Amino acid sequence: MSTLQNELRAQAVKLFDDIKTLTFDGVGVTRESYGAGVDVTVKHLVDFAALHGIETSFDGAANLVFSLPGSGDTPALWSGSHLDSLPQSGNYDGLAGVIAGVLCLVRLKREGRVLSRPFKVIGFVGEESVWFGKGYTGSSAMWGKLKPEDLALASRNSGRTLGQCLQEAGADMARISAGQPVVDLRDFAGYIELHIEQGPVMVQRGWPTAVVSGIRGSRRHPKVLGSVAIGRCGENSLDGPTHYCPVK
Ligand SMILES: [Zn+2]
Repeated sequence: MSTLQNELRAQAVKLFDDIKTLTFDGVGVTRESYGAGVDVTVKHLVDFAALHGIETSFDGAANLVFSLPGSGDTPALWSGSHLDSLPQSGNYDGLAGVIAGVLCLVRLKREGRVLSRPFKVIGFVGEESVWFGKGYTGSSAMWGKLKPEDLALASRNSGRTLGQCLQEAGADMARISAGQPVVDLRDFAGYIELHIEQGPVMVQRGWPTAVVSGIRGSRRHPKVLGSVAIGRCGENSLDGPTHYCPVK
């Protein structure tokens, strides 16, 4: 491993440790969407990026964007993940994808490499469904996919509505309320995400990493139909780690 790779590895470990310390709740980490845990994580990553010459900005849905200076608006390859977490959650879920992308930017800058198209990284601030009872709020706001009833959902912690939270975070409420994207769709040439989820399949097969070409949509309902899980093997699992199989 090169000196730079060793340095980046040490920076990754320190970022994970520092953000874990900042958001530790006594059991795991808690990074509430549009709340204290996400805010302190965003600030820490913005400071880190500034230290390494990486530019940061917020899109019209208050998601955090990292890019190299002079990237411009030509269609970019994007990476990233979510910055929010479940309560008492694992430190790596979501955060790993953001830190991996940011350190790729640091490496590109340090090596002076110019890619054929810009590489940008996004940290979504509201993806877990636990905070508003609806998942993917950050990315949905970005693409103009939030309905009025979604914006009226109240945070389980603060009681503020999603619309209020987005507004206070500086989001473009005119476009979001009108169901319009807050980003230029032509800026996106592709998206790749490193993600860590809990699941038995890779462990059982001894795979350290794996690639998926797609991911199922996730929809959660407060009502339970008897004791039957729909489309799963009776498990309440996450978005990708468990294979589909006949419903039990
Ligand atoms: Zn996740």
